[in-house]
Amino acid sequence: MASSDGIHGKVVVITGASSGLGEATARELSARGAFVVLGARRMDRLKKLAGELTAAGGTAIAIETDVTDREQVKRLVDTAAQSGGRIDVMINNAGLMPQSLLERLHVDEWDRMVDVNIKGVLYGIAAALPYMKEQKSGHFVNVSSVAGHKVRAGGTVYSATKHAVRVISEGLRQEVKPYNIRTTIISPGAVDTELPDTITDPVVGEAMRKFYDDMAIPPDSFARAVVFALTQPADVDINEILYRPTRQEF
Ligand code: NDP
Repeated sequence: MASSDGIHGKVVVITGASSGLGEATARELSARGAFVVLGARRMDRLKKLAGELTAAGGTAIAIETDVTDREQVKRLVDTAAQSGGRIDVMINNAGLMPQSLLERLHVDEWDRMVDVNIKGVLYGIAAALPYMKEQKSGHFVNVSSVAGHKVRAGGTVYSATKHAVRVISEGLRQEVKPYNIRTTIISPGAVDTELPDTITDPVVGEAMRKFYDDMAIPPDSFARAVVFALTQPADVDINEILYRPTRQEF
């Protein structure tokens, strides 16, 4: 039975839970008593994490999920609902950031970012919204970025996808008012994860890795932002959190 702290006993689905922000959030929410349902493609990582969380007294299941496949995202959420009896929180976190100048024509990477960062979030909404509507409660946490507020050379397509996440989340916020559903956008700055490894362009990749080496803060910063949003009283909806490392200027 869910308690009133906003986390204990809640059924939480997390996409991109196999590393970085998703993994840190799974650890934090599991330690606070949530039933965490973990989705990503790397099952070895997911199974190891679910095993660790369960061994520590938590409840976690791992479900192989490619968020570019609508049916797989539906299966992730349906399994969570069947196992936990409801869906309290849907964290649309999976994403990648293969940045490059447009003139390099890395069109396959543009497609990939659109598929994962935008369509993956939409599929997460499509899968969880019917449950939340029926329950007349629920909470979407969609992961944008500082790049969802700003655009810089080399980051155009990534920025576009992260702006899209904010636009989709704001539209969702307005539309789900009749159903008592909360929506939170979290926009981090540089956080130390595997994200820069998705950059294939050597020049941008080297610059970005140096930037992350100089700036990045640990992923528990993100988990704490999630906890803040989830633990508000039911009549308080934290719509957006934008945070950066203290030393990060842009
Ligand atoms: P990581 O690379 O560490 O994690 C990305 C996660 O997304 C992995 O679990 C990966 O799992 C998953 N993923 C990628 N593609 C797919 C897919 N097709 N289907 C399912 N899961 C997928 O990076 P972060 O933790 O940093 O990234 C998480 C989110 O945070 C992203 O949306 C990113 O844009 C955003 N963000 C990160 C910032 C940072 O500085 N780290 C700053 C601002 C935003 P797998 O490969 O196993 O499928």
